[in-house]
Amino acid sequence: MDFTEFAQICEQLEGTSGRLETIDIISRILTGLPDDELPIFIRFVMGRIFPDWSPKKLGIGPNLLYEGIAYVAGIRRDDVVQVINRTGDVGRAVEELLAQKEQTSFFSENLTITDVYRDLTSIAASEGKKSQREKLLLVRRLFTNARPLEGKYLSRIMLEDLRIGVGEGNAREAIAKAFAVDPVLVEYAFQAENDLGKVALLARKGNNSLRDVRIEPFRPVRMMLAQQGTINGAVADNGAMAAEYKYDGSRFQFHKAGNRCKIYSRKLEEVTAALPDISESLMAATTHDVILDGEVIAISGGKPMPFQTVLRRFRRKHGIDLIREEIRMVPNVFDILYLDGKTLIDQPLSERRKKLEGVLTGYLAPQIVSDDTDEIDRMYRDALAAGHEGLMLKVPGSPYTPGVRGKNWIKIKPDVDTLDLAVIGADWGEGKRAHVFGSFLLACQDQDELIPLSKVATGFSDEQLQEIYSLLKDRVISQQGKEVRFEPGLVVEVGYSEIQTSPNYESGFALRFPRFIGLRDDKSIDEIETLDGIRERYARQGGNRSQ
Ligand code: AMP
Repeated sequence: MDFTEFAQICEQLEGTSGRLETIDIISRILTGLPDDELPIFIRFVMGRIFPDWSPKKLGIGPNLLYEGIAYVAGIRRDDVVQVINRTGDVGRAVEELLAQKEQTSFFSENLTITDVYRDLTSIAASEGKKSQREKLLLVRRLFTNARPLEGKYLSRIMLEDLRIGVGEGNAREAIAKAFAVDPVLVEYAFQAENDLGKVALLARKGNNSLRDVRIEPFRPVRMMLAQQGTINGAVADNGAMAAEYKYDGSRFQFHKAGNRCKIYSRKLEEVTAALPDISESLMAATTHDVILDGEVIAISGGKPMPFQTVLRRFRRKHGIDLIREEIRMVPNVFDILYLDGKTLIDQPLSERRKKLEGVLTGYLAPQIVSDDTDEIDRMYRDALAAGHEGLMLKVPGSPYTPGVRGKNWIKIKPDVDTLDLAVIGADWGEGKRAHVFGSFLLACQDQDELIPLSKVATGFSDEQLQEIYSLLKDRVISQQGKEVRFEPGLVVEVGYSEIQTSPNYESGFALRFPRFIGLRDDKSIDEIETLDGIRERYARQGGNRSQ
């Protein structure tokens, strides 16, 4: 498929608001694509490049992109930024700039989606000192051969933000429709494969191929997530529940095959090098090939440390041996997804737990199974007294559903009014903070969109503002006066006293007294609070709103 055709399809989808129509358009295209283009197309149309499990990262920030465009358009980088600010969108700006250039250039090659994928793979592969230079050359080459409409979508793909309303849900349904397979099996295969490109290929072969998917060591599986609830509610709905402490650390997935092991973070990034203590502990605790799910906590002087300490270690690249002595990282393992060649995610939790107990000596998170709410309540209070976050209640008969925040895992924690939100914009600071961002625009999510909810300007130390600045400075997409917009990616936790209705933000709500609590760079954008969640919280506030 020529990339021009892909861009035209994107243009058509951008102008389509109906879900069914979107699914229909995509499914018709999928049917006609050859096997080598099918996975590329399905990922591209969702604004992704590599499989979700893949550690490959493009590593192009908006700045590099602007430089590439500036070169191809024959103008200065600042002029590119001006056009972006005027159009409010990188894609449209690139389209406009390439259209001006097109009138003066005579020759460009036809790009196919495979060419683009190959070049993006080379960009991702470029590492080391000269990598920025190499990446820039490849970006320039791509844009030199791109027509204006291609440039629009190429730049959006590079920023992994295609904005044509095709999320995982639509893509899954389009695959099911195109190849007349069971949508439930498409979802199941996706949970295990963690790549809709591969799932599309399996779907083409039929239901049986989808049913037969297997998980494998060193291909990380998306983490199963929890919903908020109450002890009484969970027991009333399900009867006996498996109860475990809810540890206040960071999620990890441990993969072992033979004498090799790797550790992945909640965002499925490989963090093995940062956590040698976890590898050593778990390698010594099992002789089997396994994929384990658990939470790392940090212990110093026998006490759990705040979870930000764990996060810092996950991020750390150097000097690990030095800090290891002071702060010990301890794994608490609560699930097993794979054992000696067998995928276990279909089995009920109670079975998985038995297997886990059989293969792991030590580091098992203690668990009770009970329908006695008093007993569970006592465990909850013990958990809080010991410095943990609360309890996790899990339905004993439930399978492991990767990536799903369903009703089979219920988290019980004291009512704390905090939200995880995405940083989508900022204002430059003032006075001694003039060289960093001073206040931030935060968004929740609704369907596949980010919806502004509030600003936060308090709760930061100078060091934190500096750290956030360094995390965001290369994500600037546009700037107008003191206001900056970012390519979304960073998640923060904020506290608040109340949710109010407000005409100032698109969500229709705003936070009263928002304050920064911490970075949540272990979380990805699709894990932030939903607009429905905000509505629920607003409704729950009910009569006891602060004055
Ligand atoms: P939350 O981040 O508030 O949605 O809560 C879910 C998170 O709790 C999981 O992603 C884990 O990182 C963490 N967690 C701590 N203890 C457990 C446990 N026993 N079972 C499952 N998740 C746990």
